[in-house]
Amino acid sequence: MNDLTINTAIEYELPETAVNRHLIAGEWLDGADTFERRSPSHDVVVSVSAQGDAAMTERAIKAARDTFDAGHWSRISGKERAAVLLKVADLIEANVDRIAVFETLESGKPISQSRGEVGGAADLWRYAASLARTSHGDSHNTLGKDMLGVVLKEPIGVVSIITPWNFPFWILSQKLPFALAAGCTVVIKPSEMTPTSTVMMGELLIEAGLPAGVCNIVLGHGQPVGSLMSTHKDVDMVTFTGSTAVGKLITQAASGTLKKVALELGGKNPQVICPDADLDSAADAVTFGVYFNVGQCCNSSSRIIVHEDIAEDFVRRVVALSRKVKFGDPLDPDTQVGAIVTAEHNAKIDSYVQAAVADGAKLDLGGGNLAVGGLGEQFYQPTVISGVSPQMAIAREEVFGPVLVVLTYRTFDEAVALVNDSDYGLSAGIWSENMHTCMDFARRAQAGTVWTNTWMDGFPELAFGGVKQSGQGREIGRYGFEEFLEVKSLVMRIGRSRAPWVQQDA
Ligand code: NAD
Repeated sequence: MNDLTINTAIEYELPETAVNRHLIAGEWLDGADTFERRSPSHDVVVSVSAQGDAAMTERAIKAARDTFDAGHWSRISGKERAAVLLKVADLIEANVDRIAVFETLESGKPISQSRGEVGGAADLWRYAASLARTSHGDSHNTLGKDMLGVVLKEPIGVVSIITPWNFPFWILSQKLPFALAAGCTVVIKPSEMTPTSTVMMGELLIEAGLPAGVCNIVLGHGQPVGSLMSTHKDVDMVTFTGSTAVGKLITQAASGTLKKVALELGGKNPQVICPDADLDSAADAVTFGVYFNVGQCCNSSSRIIVHEDIAEDFVRRVVALSRKVKFGDPLDPDTQVGAIVTAEHNAKIDSYVQAAVADGAKLDLGGGNLAVGGLGEQFYQPTVISGVSPQMAIAREEVFGPVLVVLTYRTFDEAVALVNDSDYGLSAGIWSENMHTCMDFARRAQAGTVWTNTWMDGFPELAFGGVKQSGQGREIGRYGFEEFLEVKSLVMRIGRSRAPWVQQDA
């Protein structure tokens, strides 16, 4: 453990505790109770938030429903909606540092990463603004001389947005501007562990001139807030990012009213390393893919499938790089990997590792908590495990920590079979200098995103989402925007040429 690179605590003046309230119909509201979020890295109270209950959730849904039906947002022009979204993008950029500190303290992620995510989110808002103005349906001018058909796109209505703790501001920005661009009104529930950046977003929306009641925020837990947001008859759609287990509960809850459900869930994302790959680049990308956000990332490349001829060499390279990755104080701008979100989650990560070792897997690096000078032990060591069989839980389930699992293959077909032998299908990657190998892989991998000779690059223009138990529907890009639109066919007769159905008396 001594040969890891650890950034111990730096001197830093922590901000005052954030006091977070619900935002409903343009008003900031307290609740009867509150809940606290302590920082996983600094063990201080970062925020005190109003605790949402059923009555507050009902009130938020009513505000969103009434506002949608009144048409103040849903029926204004795309140009007017785009103007507000563009202002929000500017305000995000002006507030990056203020928001990023709270994002880091609540989630444990490095400050450089928080700044990148908050600042980068502005681009999602600008892209969504472009869609607000260019959205259109179809016209059908081939239905006969007396017929014209038009397919209209309309906002789907009231949308519940439920988000997780691992990328609070970024994931909100993968959903909210697209829903708003479409003309929807929303009720948002951020994770109880990271409410503050969503509340700050609410402040920016008001400053940008978003009409009251278009965006409502209820703080609190899955029960009762998230659950009611999934069952309520006045909600037309739920868009959720989080665990597969809760995604299934939401699908069941939404079935009572058959509302639309879009789900972004977990993954067990593989990268295949072929013998002809650029091994330096592949090892660097694998190291990034597994430790980014301490592995608490739906897109974590938590399993690699390496050709057996190069496996030993490749693992050695990844272990050597892992020792250089800077773990430690998330407030240090130099830190690359921060804290684990809760002590319970730290214990869960370790239980996967210990079970694999007990079943005969080999620990090439790490495997245990990490003490960071001045900050305590809610950190986990960079961990690499080989000698893993595809049936072990650590090779199949989402560990959600800085833990890399190494599997090997002999033939390309075997590699593809291992990739697809998963309940999940979020993303997959391949490293090879042969473009035919890459293309063949891209078409056979069961995943919503395939990366060839890269990992985790994304763009607002490209759809994101999973197949199998990684989710349903798509986010961002034109396809993600379309999720928030309903389709209506309009059939128009031209002239009075239709023969009567009922024979008139002579
Ligand atoms: P989680 O499922 O525990 O919680 C997510 C949100 O759902 C929180 O706001 C929570 O309060 C709420 N919730 C809990 N129970 C609910 C219920 N019964 N009804 C409605 N809402 C409820 O997930 P998490 O621990 O916050 O996040 C980690 C998970 O998110 C991982 O599985 C990860 O893979 C996944 N994730 C997926 C993506 C993606 O885009 N595919 C992105 C990030 C995270």
